[in-house]
Amino acid sequence: MGLIFLGASEAQKRTQAPILAQGNIMRLIFLGPPGAGKGTQAAILAQELNIPHISTGDLLRSAIAQKTALGILAQAYLESGELVPDALIMAMMGERLAEFDALGGWILDGFPRNLSQAQALDRLLQILGQSHPQAVNFNVATESLIARMLQQGRKDDNENLIRRRLEVYQEKTTPLINFYKQRRCLIDIDGNLTPEAVNQSIRAKLSLAVPV
Ligand code: AMP
Repeated sequence: MGLIFLGASEAQKRTQAPILAQGNIMRLIFLGPPGAGKGTQAAILAQELNIPHISTGDLLRSAIAQKTALGILAQAYLESGELVPDALIMAMMGERLAEFDALGGWILDGFPRNLSQAQALDRLLQILGQSHPQAVNFNVATESLIARMLQQGRKDDNENLIRRRLEVYQEKTTPLINFYKQRRCLIDIDGNLTPEAVNQSIRAKLSLAVPV
């Protein structure tokens, strides 16, 4: 089926309108190791649903490029593949999720990254009056990850940095899989397929209408 939406056409918006009108606001957390394709999938789905794709990595890189106080504090962590301190991340996300466009749902990409961020996100959503999110976990064979990331070739990605980011993911972020599984709000996705097939599978598992 050829059904990827590449632009927010009027037909697409009409298809989506009933989903939002029914109060079915999509709040999604994309979990998965670096290189799993979750950024690509988040961008596609966010456009299809007309909700913001919020990537903490992108927000941090933009803060670094603009040399803001946050960027200056965060830079060394990104360069070494370590996690930026939770307090900085939560301040950044507190502001972002309180923005107007986040009221109608969102896809979080790269956040939360550890248990304390997940717990802090719970508290933040309670304060903002936003309901519990659904987590989408991308499974990709480890050998593919390094190859994919080297191929994507962000200039700061050398192999050591990539390995360190994978280790940090294993150590700090994988406990979130159980955290959300225990809440029965985790969807597992096979990320080894083509981007189109992965998109299909996410939509099917989230029970979204498949556009024709
Ligand atoms: P990403 O683009 O999501 O792979 O993130 C790139 C880098 O930004 C990571 O290796 C971390 O240094 C930092 N980063 C992104 N998101 C977070 C987060 N939620 N908590 C801490 N550090 C983060």
